[in-house]
Amino acid sequence: MEIGILGGGIAGLSVALALRKQGYHPRVYERRREPATMGAGVTLWPNASFVLEELGLLQDIDAIGGRPLAMHRQDAVGNALGGLDIALLDRTMGYPTYTVLRRDLQAVVLDHVVRAGIPVEFGHRAAGIELDAHGRAVAHFENGANIRPDLLIGADGRMDSVARKFVAGDNTPVYQGFVNWIGVAQGQHALVDDISIQDFWGAGERFGCVAIRPQLVYWAAAQARPLSEAIPTADIRKEVEDLFAGWPEPVAQIIRATPANAVRLIAVHDLEPLHTWNRANVLLVGDAAHAPLPTSGQGACQALEDAWHLVRCLDGASGNLDETFRAFTEIRSPKTAKLAEQGRVFARGLFATDPEACRLRNERAKASDPVRDVQVLTAGWGQGLPMPGCRDSTPAQEGGFGSLYRTE
Ligand SMILES: Cc1cc2nc3c(=O)[nH]c(=O)nc-3n(C[C@H](O)[C@H](O)[C@H](O)COP(=O)(O)OP(=O)(O)OC[C@H]3O[C@@H](n4cnc5c(N)ncnc54)[C@H](O)[C@@H]3O)c2cc1C
Repeated sequence: MEIGILGGGIAGLSVALALRKQGYHPRVYERRREPATMGAGVTLWPNASFVLEELGLLQDIDAIGGRPLAMHRQDAVGNALGGLDIALLDRTMGYPTYTVLRRDLQAVVLDHVVRAGIPVEFGHRAAGIELDAHGRAVAHFENGANIRPDLLIGADGRMDSVARKFVAGDNTPVYQGFVNWIGVAQGQHALVDDISIQDFWGAGERFGCVAIRPQLVYWAAAQARPLSEAIPTADIRKEVEDLFAGWPEPVAQIIRATPANAVRLIAVHDLEPLHTWNRANVLLVGDAAHAPLPTSGQGACQALEDAWHLVRCLDGASGNLDETFRAFTEIRSPKTAKLAEQGRVFARGLFATDPEACRLRNERAKASDPVRDVQVLTAGWGQGLPMPGCRDSTPAQEGGFGSLYRTE
């Protein structure tokens, strides 16, 4: 079976690797001219580590990643708001959590893809997909190339997916009312005391610091803003520095340890859940199918899960595509839709500006039960995976960050 994959991000490359391991021969088409990534870092929660181990990548991730043992929350003046016992989460789910730079994660996956002999065609930007006279999809690239594989997988991201446009007729992402500034701080000396995630909550503002090593910390600052004001200033780092001046350390230190030209502003969008992820012989995976907000913490983790499930569905259906698509969507759609919804719920609480809503949110976070929180996340994130602590998980009615800190 000829398999073409549009997009060489985490979804496209991990799907390619999973398929190759199962004996298929995929080919990846990536719009960029060379390997490159945007973004700072990613937290790979235990459900992602399960898939990474299955794909044979976990050892390499262990070599480049940090192992956070806790997430600590504070308000904007330094009052503790509880946290998450990541060590307990890892023990319960049976796999470790890692913090990694996005470029390092991408490099590890690409290295395995190349070593597995999977061709990656850079400089191939898909321009459109249409059906031929036999009802089979033909993808056209801006460089004039065309492909007509037996199975075409759309892994071309959230912002302008050609595959999603073909499948759903529309691929318009939804702005969710806040911007992120992201960066990677590198110090000569330690910037933080331990390898942890530090999450600071204000009113309509948030700052998250994620340590990989004591001297290497990626971060994301966020603020509620109308889309018309989501425009980078001439000195982006100065804007963030001014906005978060007076917040607890290490916020200022981490901003200062980030090269000024390396801070990026992102207007944060997600996608409405779709009823169907396939049309003809085209299937959507990763963000193109189900992009959640970064507040879900699960976008890349869910892209990896897609890879693991897709090969099982394909094998289970003996290569029958309709059957594969049906099984894949049935397994993946409820979980990803729930996580996307919880990402929105959590974002609404985080970017609330009403003082009473913020007070309630903070009180609720402070009072949360660490053991119950771990159980809730284990049930939600482990759902559908044969991980040790998740075998009895029920479908993810609850189970993401949104279900822990809901204020409505
Ligand atoms: C600020 C921020 C923080 C995040 N933090 C986390 C986190 O901690 N944990 C987590 O799990 N997730 C996180 N995410 C989400 C995660 O980054 C995404 O869900 C994940 O990268 C999705 O992978 P993907 O391969 O589907 O899409 P992408 O990574 O967007 O990859 C899509 C690929 O397709 C290519 N492409 C696009 N259009 C075309 C075309 N027309 N033709 C050919 N190629 C094309 C692109 O160049 C790209 O390489 C975060 C996201 C943001 C914005």
